[in-house]
Amino acid sequence: MKTIRATIFLACALALTICTTTVSALDAADGGVMTQSMQAAITPAKALEMLKEGNKRFVSGTPVGVDYLAQVKKTAAGQYPFAAVVTCVDSRTQPEIIFDQGIGDMFVARVAGNFVNDDILGSLEFATKVSGARIILIMGHTECGAIKGACDDVELGLLTATLANINPAVAVVGKEDYSPTNSKNPKFVQAVADMNVKLTMQKLRDRSLVLRNMIDKGEIALVGAMYDITTGKTTFYE
Ligand SMILES: [Zn+2]
Repeated sequence: MKTIRATIFLACALALTICTTTVSALDAADGGVMTQSMQAAITPAKALEMLKEGNKRFVSGTPVGVDYLAQVKKTAAGQYPFAAVVTCVDSRTQPEIIFDQGIGDMFVARVAGNFVNDDILGSLEFATKVSGARIILIMGHTECGAIKGACDDVELGLLTATLANINPAVAVVGKEDYSPTNSKNPKFVQAVADMNVKLTMQKLRDRSLVLRNMIDKGEIALVGAMYDITTGKTTFYE
């Protein structure tokens, strides 16, 4: 009797361990990739949890390790990413690395200052409505050169128009009690970076009917975040 009970206990413990292990952590190391059924089983809440767990593994120096070439072969016939990330072009903010993900796990749109325009919103509609990603993460980062440039009204070729997308955040935070209101004030710069993420999330909702409907129906999550380039840690706005 004791043996049977012990066997049942062990079986339950094993099942629980398998169920609570993240999809990526389970399969990435041996070249496993996201499949259609795995993607379908991931809720928006679970997708957020997977990003959080991946960043924890990255920060603690315990990534699952990825066999990229095996993943290339396994994703050649199709992709089923669970997340879509909008972030800066900054060389220190690579989503796949800082969330410990592999090939086929996430869509990534990158532009200086991590804002959205119609091209990026259309890409996000493709990532979610067409291709099944369960979460959109808008991720800014500390010490962002684009944010600093917008704070200082930098003008340079086509970059002037790019940075203009950050001006609404500069304007909102500029009305608060900061002095000076330029890149020499780290607190002002960070407040603009935070506001830029929030306004970008708002613009996404206002501008894309497809995405707004999916968010309101609970089909996808929209989450903001700030990546700290000094620690590797991502703070999620909740
Ligand atoms: Zn940046």
